[in-house]
Amino acid sequence: MTKIVILPGDGIGPEIAAAAARLLAAVGEFELEEHPIGGASIDAHGTALTEETLAACRAADAVLLAAVGGPRWDAAVAADPSAPRPEQGLLGLRKGLGLFANLRPVRPSPALLDASPLKRDRIEGTDLLVVRELTGGIYFGESGRSGDSAHDDCLYTVGEIERIARVGFKSARRKLTSVDKANVLETSRLWRETVNRVHREEFPDVELEHLLVDNAAMQLVSRPADFDTIVTENLFGDILSDEAAMLTGSLGMLPSASIGGDGPGLFEPVHGSAPDIAGTGKANPLAMFGSVALMLRHGLGLEDSAAGVESAIDRALEGGLRTADLGGEAGTAAATDAVLANI
Ligand code: NAD
Repeated sequence: MTKIVILPGDGIGPEIAAAAARLLAAVGEFELEEHPIGGASIDAHGTALTEETLAACRAADAVLLAAVGGPRWDAAVAADPSAPRPEQGLLGLRKGLGLFANLRPVRPSPALLDASPLKRDRIEGTDLLVVRELTGGIYFGESGRSGDSAHDDCLYTVGEIERIARVGFKSARRKLTSVDKANVLETSRLWRETVNRVHREEFPDVELEHLLVDNAAMQLVSRPADFDTIVTENLFGDILSDEAAMLTGSLGMLPSASIGGDGPGLFEPVHGSAPDIAGTGKANPLAMFGSVALMLRHGLGLEDSAAGVESAIDRALEGGLRTADLGGEAGTAAATDAVLANI
């Protein structure tokens, strides 16, 4: 049976993880196994990610994570900088699973179009995916200081660009937009050359366009519905995925996926552990449910089930479901009931 490891983590994590388990039980037959991560793991084992949790994740078909972190562990780190940090669990997991591609879909639900900071006619029809390279570029290059100067090197290898380009081409439904700064940066020229070659040799049927990152940032808010899939390097992807995220209007709605070579992928909401509402039953489970849909699609190859979950979310919202963060009154349990009623 398909095995899914659920990592509830901290804050609202356990509440939305329990809601996700209810959703999964309604969608199909899965073996679910729970393990601690983040602050919960620090409390129980003194480390944010145990060998046991990592081994269980490696042996699973997919990993579903809720959220980690909270003020209690932040305070411990403030008092003693060598204390373990909850987010080390997440970083260790990404590294341990060899995840190099981050996928963030942006698909404002029709019922929530007016919650976006952009005008309805701009975002109507938006259904895009940002594929961000996660392990290379300026965040991982050599850096340092000398006298009154500092430097951060940006490095990419052909192999790193090829593998992320393939994720982009495979994810694109009609068109792939590759974003770089090839008019200025040498890494971007290598990026463009490599993406063009992968296109020619392996994916000639997918339409490919190149956009400079400054232009892409502009086009994302002026004509978001024209994008299908965007593939880009680490730094540009970090910024553009947050920009694109704002199109939906609420943090409680955004799912994400991190995938790698041959092991399981990691699926998680973009938001954090929301300690301010933890334990109140008010957490919006929809970003978690969106992450379940991504897991079904990109992690387990169950496209029909993924589409079923996404349309159940849309129908529940059309039926009036609004959690507190969306200006309504529904709590986690009622929101889960509303989605399950539409499965
Ligand atoms: P946050 O995303 O937890 O919360 C920001 C605001 O959004 C809060 O007001 C919160 O109540 C609200 N919110 C977030 N998710 C919600 C949901 N599902 N339903 C309703 N409201 C929701 O960000 P933060 O406050 O900056 O961070 C809190 C903790 O989470 C910190 O310890 C931080 O390190 C951690 N964090 C973890 C992750 C992760 O696990 N991937 C990501 C970001 C932050």
